[in-house]
Amino acid sequence: MKAAGRDAAITRISESIDAKEVIALAQELIRVPSVYRKEHQVSARIMKKLAGWGFDPISVPVEGFGPCVVCQHGKGKKHSVGLNGHMDTVEVKEGWKHDPFGAKIEKGMLYGLGALDMKSGLAALMIAFKTIAESGAKLDCNVRFQAVTGEEENSAGIRTLIVNGFFKDVKATIVGEGIGGLGVITHGRRGGSYYEIDVIGKSAHGSTPHLGVSAIADAAKIITALDGMKMRTSNGLVADSGKRLAESQLVLRISGGDVSYSVPDRCTLRIMRATIPGHPIDITKDLRRVVRGLGLRSRVEIKMQMGPGDLLKPYFSPTDSELVNTARKWIKHYTANNPRLVCGLSEADDNQVAELTGVPVICFGPGERGKLARYHQPEEAVKVSQLGIASKIYCSTVLELASAP
Ligand SMILES: [Zn+2]
Repeated sequence: MKAAGRDAAITRISESIDAKEVIALAQELIRVPSVYRKEHQVSARIMKKLAGWGFDPISVPVEGFGPCVVCQHGKGKKHSVGLNGHMDTVEVKEGWKHDPFGAKIEKGMLYGLGALDMKSGLAALMIAFKTIAESGAKLDCNVRFQAVTGEEENSAGIRTLIVNGFFKDVKATIVGEGIGGLGVITHGRRGGSYYEIDVIGKSAHGSTPHLGVSAIADAAKIITALDGMKMRTSNGLVADSGKRLAESQLVLRISGGDVSYSVPDRCTLRIMRATIPGHPIDITKDLRRVVRGLGLRSRVEIKMQMGPGDLLKPYFSPTDSELVNTARKWIKHYTANNPRLVCGLSEADDNQVAELTGVPVICFGPGERGKLARYHQPEEAVKVSQLGIASKIYCSTVLELASAP
């Protein structure tokens, strides 16, 4: 089919989406509490919903969390296009005035836990998925919808899907998480590397501190020196703040000392370096150099942590890729704005997809900026006017991506 004819057909299908249906589904999802590790009920609801629409969804158990839901339209094609969202939320934070599970709409805003992060996105993905299947459009790819769990804790759900082969044939994935709203496509993210710094001093009676070496005093010097380290900046990538993407570093924990009157001989720091694409993810050498420069009397051991969830690489999907271009085109079509391409500052499920599968991935969806960006905050709310538009954009983008083999 010629591009113009194809686009007209895609638009016709996407325009059949009823915004009211997307909003009602977002409300329904908000009304089923799904704090991470307790996603069982919402997972069952999504299963039931998909089955009611005539699909054959499968439930994939995740250790310690509610099960993920995977549902496919089409079969036997060489490739699939993925639509992905997480169904868990953070806890109810202090300060809610609205019922966090009431899903009330007031002055065009839908209030509720997960309104932004990310039950609106999830509802928009689901309706787009259903619309694509019901359209009967001939596609060259399967379309796979995934609702995952555990994103807010450690991405356990998506890792389970990756391990179980659900990304093997995927040629591109859209995550419906819309930090910043529909004016933004997140096409990359920083990663994170974690380090443990062990400071080993020398104990002595507390009344004669000069006879010992205080590990706590030396750890304090290390913390000050860490603050002075120069962070690397990316040449071409932009953060969602609009500034150039840069590393950052934080001491997450300090522990040491005892109750007895003794010179503390042990102090441990846990630090995190947020890393950026194109630059080292292991900065152990940099840390050693900084510590050596201090000439401490304590012995210092520095180890990068490599356990699950400890290390995530930064990633980015090229700005001129088929995935980015197609999403950008349809966002422009439905919002009349050219979306900004940004990199997220924090890690998320898309890091796992990029790192463990190599599948091109981007995130965008209904969301807010500035004061309204109450992610992980009380009074979380989203402008409902975005929900139908987001669903149409997902629908059009996937139809176009799935029309090519
Ligand atoms: Zn989220």
